[in-house]
Amino acid sequence: MGRTDYLDKLNDKQKEAAMYTEGPLLILAGAGSGKTSTMTCRIAYLIREMGVHPYNILAVTFTNKAAKEMRERVQRLIGEGVNMWILTFHSACLRILRSHAEILDYGRDFAVYDPTDQKTVVKNICKELNIDTKKFTPGYFLGVISHCKEQRIHAREYNSIFGNDFREQMVGQVYDRYEKTLKKNNAMDFDDLLLKTVELFEADEEVLLKYQNRFRYIMVDEYQDTNLIQYAFVKLLADARDEDGNIRRNICVVGDDDQCIYQWRGADIRNILEFEKDFPGAKTVKLEQNYRSTANILAAAHSVISHNRGRKAKKLWTDAEDGKKIVYYNADDEKDEAYFIASEINRIAAQQTQPDGVPDYREFAVLYRTNAQSRTFEEALSNRAIPYRVLGGLRYYDRKEIKDMMCYMRLVQNRADDLALVRIINEPKRGVGGKTLQKLQALAQVRGVGLFNVLLDDEIISSFSGKVAGNLKNFAGLIETYGIERESMKISDLYDGLLVNSGYMKALEDQHTVEADSRLENLMEFKSVIIGYEKEDPNMSLAEFMERIALLADVDNHDSEENAVTLMTLHSAKGLEFPYVFMPGMEDGLFPGWRAFDREDGLEEERRLCYVGITRAKKRLWMTSAQTRTLYGRTDYTRESAFLRELDKSLIEGDSIYEKKDRKAEGVFRDGASGSSVFKPFDQLKYAKAQTKQKAAAMAKAGDTDFAVGDRVSHPKFGEGTVLETGGSVIRIKFADQDRKLALGIAPLKKL
Ligand code: ATP
Ligand code: MG
Repeated sequence: MGRTDYLDKLNDKQKEAAMYTEGPLLILAGAGSGKTSTMTCRIAYLIREMGVHPYNILAVTFTNKAAKEMRERVQRLIGEGVNMWILTFHSACLRILRSHAEILDYGRDFAVYDPTDQKTVVKNICKELNIDTKKFTPGYFLGVISHCKEQRIHAREYNSIFGNDFREQMVGQVYDRYEKTLKKNNAMDFDDLLLKTVELFEADEEVLLKYQNRFRYIMVDEYQDTNLIQYAFVKLLADARDEDGNIRRNICVVGDDDQCIYQWRGADIRNILEFEKDFPGAKTVKLEQNYRSTANILAAAHSVISHNRGRKAKKLWTDAEDGKKIVYYNADDEKDEAYFIASEINRIAAQQTQPDGVPDYREFAVLYRTNAQSRTFEEALSNRAIPYRVLGGLRYYDRKEIKDMMCYMRLVQNRADDLALVRIINEPKRGVGGKTLQKLQALAQVRGVGLFNVLLDDEIISSFSGKVAGNLKNFAGLIETYGIERESMKISDLYDGLLVNSGYMKALEDQHTVEADSRLENLMEFKSVIIGYEKEDPNMSLAEFMERIALLADVDNHDSEENAVTLMTLHSAKGLEFPYVFMPGMEDGLFPGWRAFDREDGLEEERRLCYVGITRAKKRLWMTSAQTRTLYGRTDYTRESAFLRELDKSLIEGDSIYEKKDRKAEGVFRDGASGSSVFKPFDQLKYAKAQTKQKAAAMAKAGDTDFAVGDRVSHPKFGEGTVLETGGSVIRIKFADQDRKLALGIAPLKKL
């Protein structure tokens, strides 16, 4: 390869950007215009043609994967191994802090706490402060703390800004102790890595100068997703003076304001929009040729994103052929949608065979808005024996919360299932630690009985501390009661009851984190599974149901790396490209999500996400929606996504049923309010959670709850009996056949 061959492959604009090396440079580049390619070429150019030492270059990006890829590409271009700082923000900061930690009064060998360590710290603090971690979970506190750190708000500031009500005061206290504990332990968390580096630069001019002098050329990819701290880091380093006292600012940022999708995590789109103001004299290069997609796909992306107001006007063009139109399919329901996608993949894949005659499934991606949507696709693909992998997440039935709830049901079905019991005995937290469990297991072994049997033994249980004993009794009573009632209950009711009465749902709700919400979504979605089976066979027993699910969960056509269709969320697809892309669930309330309707910029962020999704496609794009969707166990009519309505219709083929659908949507959409033609977004998750609780509460009313020892009671199955003991939520009754412990308020007991 000739010396500058790599430059000749660039177009003029790209080349201009790659060769503009002095002074601030903004490459505002639309999706697929070769941003990352240009940046890597620029690094190569600096080293090979400008004689810049790799030591003087800093390139930062967001994920390890992106950093690794960039390093490899640069290495290929300059043809030698170089030890250059092409790193994520976090690892760059870590390296800097390791050399100067003592300035901030940390030891250089400070520890970096991961989320598990952080949780342990907060848990201990809660104990010290007597905070009920069932009500306020460590996850909740850590969420607030992280958010504060992103905004550069320290504990002392938090307390002077907030601290008005009880909750804020409590958070302030926890935050304060958290800060002090980490300091005392000579430890930093991930947020600290960024924050402390900025503080180091601000505190010590000499250190800052050292790095300013070292990093003469700074580059940032995905600049649109930088937050306040990352911005400060970059700005401090870039505002350097050269030997003559002139400001240098050799900073090149690459980004696309249309692809900023992490505002909810603190990303500040203004960083890129105001780059020219922040760095006076900046040159802006717009890359306007897209090399990734067909003309139709590109036009579709543009017709959607142009509805955003807070954006820099730019339009991509392409040399590529028009390509096929975008296929829109309006399915009957979500199953039909998934089967349509599976059969399209089959059809196209049959034509896309690899040299060995096997279809190339790697060319396909299904990009959905929420993780809970993956389930129907997993099922449809399994049924057609199409290999798939779920990226950035687990397969639906592998998810922790789903496994946990399945174990509850397994235990109800079969109380001898020790494996299931061990998994959930402390889920949610009941104070049953490893030691308690060991003790229970030892006892079970000695007696030659199952673990659950031991839990029913009052004497043993009473030997634990009052709180743990109470928790265990409630747990055993709950399982026992549902075990007895399971045949007279609908499976969905049983599920609702377990979810609420076990405390599992509440524990998640109390966390108030994005992760917990997504778990709740998955749990609510499990109701769709159950209700689907109930519809198919209203008399299906719990045992039959569990068998069916076990089979599904076991299907192992799960190909980790190789030839498989990719399923993932739109968020995790940023930066990637696929020949064939499917975007399902194009419905208001799902995508854009209902939350987006609260705020105009919320809708704009969703629209950018839609733009990211469309622009992942190289050759073909499918969009689908379902006329009715069962999500979180509830079936509703849907309305087509606002983004579909915005899309230039001449680019679409397929069901053009906008007119028909719009009429249908009137009045019957989700909230069921008749006659209203005003679309109201609807929080389905909130609704599903409320329904679940109502169900559980209604079931609780099925029985009396107020009993005293000696009362005579009747039970539909066991007949009449006498109350032997009440305490907490469990009641012991002598029936004709035997003594039984039942959960109060769940068992249908009537006082006689
Ligand atoms: P995104 O916004 O999605 O991150 P990007 O702007 O970083 O995209 P790249 O991933 O660098 O874009 O490039 C997109 C595609 O275009 C790649 O397949 C790349 O190989 C190709 N490409 C980039 N520049 C050129 C060029 N000058 N000639 C031919 N192909 C190019
Ligand atoms: Mg890129």
